[in-house]
Amino acid sequence: MDRRQFCRSAVAAGVAAAFLPGCGKETPVATQADMGITAISLDGAEIELTKAAIRELGDASSGPVMLSGHPQYDSARMIWNGMHDKRPALIARCMNAEDVGNAVSFASDNNLLVAVRGGGHSWPGKSVCDGGLMIDLSQMNTVTADADTRRARAQGGALLNGLDSAALEKGMVTTAGVVSHTGCGGYTLGGGFGRLNRKYGLTIDNVTGARIVTADGQARWISADEEPDLFWAIRGGGGNFGVVTEFEYQLHPFDRNVLSGNIVWPLEQARDVLEFYAEWSAGLSDELYVGPSLARLPEVGDSVIMEIVYNGDPAAGEKELAPLRAIGKPVADGVAMQDYMIMQTSADAMMAHGVRSYAKNGMVREWSQGLVDALIDAYDPRMFLTNHVAGGAVKRVGETDTAFPHRNAELMLVFVTGWGDPAMDQEMIQATKAQYAALKPYMGGYYDNIEFDGGAAAGNYGPAYSRLAKIKAQHDPGNLFRLNSNIEPAA
Ligand SMILES: Cc1cc2nc3c(=O)[nH]c(=O)nc-3n(C[C@H](O)[C@H](O)[C@H](O)COP(=O)(O)OP(=O)(O)OC[C@H]3O[C@@H](n4cnc5c(N)ncnc54)[C@H](O)[C@@H]3O)c2cc1C
Repeated sequence: MDRRQFCRSAVAAGVAAAFLPGCGKETPVATQADMGITAISLDGAEIELTKAAIRELGDASSGPVMLSGHPQYDSARMIWNGMHDKRPALIARCMNAEDVGNAVSFASDNNLLVAVRGGGHSWPGKSVCDGGLMIDLSQMNTVTADADTRRARAQGGALLNGLDSAALEKGMVTTAGVVSHTGCGGYTLGGGFGRLNRKYGLTIDNVTGARIVTADGQARWISADEEPDLFWAIRGGGGNFGVVTEFEYQLHPFDRNVLSGNIVWPLEQARDVLEFYAEWSAGLSDELYVGPSLARLPEVGDSVIMEIVYNGDPAAGEKELAPLRAIGKPVADGVAMQDYMIMQTSADAMMAHGVRSYAKNGMVREWSQGLVDALIDAYDPRMFLTNHVAGGAVKRVGETDTAFPHRNAELMLVFVTGWGDPAMDQEMIQATKAQYAALKPYMGGYYDNIEFDGGAAAGNYGPAYSRLAKIKAQHDPGNLFRLNSNIEPAA
């Protein structure tokens, strides 16, 4: 019997979850004798969790600790990518840092496999596991913003939508990603690319502090002044160092009515458009974000799409954009003054929860004729070949100033597919891999956050890796937080 079947049958047969009222929550208890439940340890072995230990965790928690059979267990274990159908032995739905501390200590004491769920958008499904403990931060989603201090605070399970909305309400903004239902947690810890990063840097460049629960169950505030090594490590090192229960972000004054939108050309004009873009984009201002994609659009067909946000004086933006608009014959030009959130939510429906999805990516240092040719040659209508534009402020941060290593990249090519039918899994995965392979010669290094198969390879972290491994050894010597792009502890 494989591990997944084992977990399903053991949990279902061994534990009929019953629910006792208490403190406005439902506490599950194992009802069959004192056997408790079977779970999976950090090293993959089967272990028993006693009924008493589970009850103790439930009693200490403000939120429910759910076993299979709890009415919310099935919705809680589902994450964004429909490819992942995993069944944790228990799910601790945390309401505050203390609950997180208790859950972490429970896992540590029991040598239990742990998955931490922020917004649940991990492509490879690292935020859920079979047979372990899922620490669910989804209810810790409050964001506040303060225009006087120019700071926002987001709980560890907040979504980018919450961060954007709270900041914009105060006439402020910080860099946030392009799909608004993505979680602040994993997104920020891995780097954070968004439409304003040429002006304000990656999201990690805007993190000014964080509250983190480390493997010992203790919560601490970290910043450039308090535990600077750990603060350095979480800015690019992912969820390796603990559970972040709160982030603090630098905000920037911002007029949400921005010159923005998409320009679309038929794919037949791709060569003219991309050859122009390859030269023109090298001299763009930090205010201008112009990201090209190749995809089949429902009403237009195979297309080149340029996604535009100009973060500055609209007249200057119109002037800077004019040469691009003069290329070829676009079939649509939707660039106009509009609310920033229209762009920030424009891909939400296309990337809806439950889609089956596979993704790869790679960093590109510079445009070349070869890259333009390869992009056109590798076009596949089943794929969304897009990119995150970097450069600007992203590039001005030193390579080892944060744990994010790819400061020299001009852009990140992203190969994404989405489908609904499980029977298509292999076909779509192979299509993505083929397109990625065709572009591989032009890429060096990858972004852990948009990688299905990769891990925290030492080579990919470059000079940051050995420092990360040492900090990991200091704060998580037993590698409790391993369901991430894992950095193994090394003294
Ligand atoms: C539709 C979609 C759009 C995306 N768009 C962008 C984009 O525009 N820019 C960009 O840079 N990336 C983007 N990404 C990639 C995204 O940054 C990663 O998928 C990221 O991991 C998502 O964070 P999450 O909290 O939603 O994920 P989760 O699945 O909850 O977690 C991902 C990883 O982070 C860990 N983690 C999450 N929260 C915490 C926390 N609070 N403390 C400690 N560890 C935590 C988890 O354990 C897991 O290892 C996108 C992904 C998707 C699916």
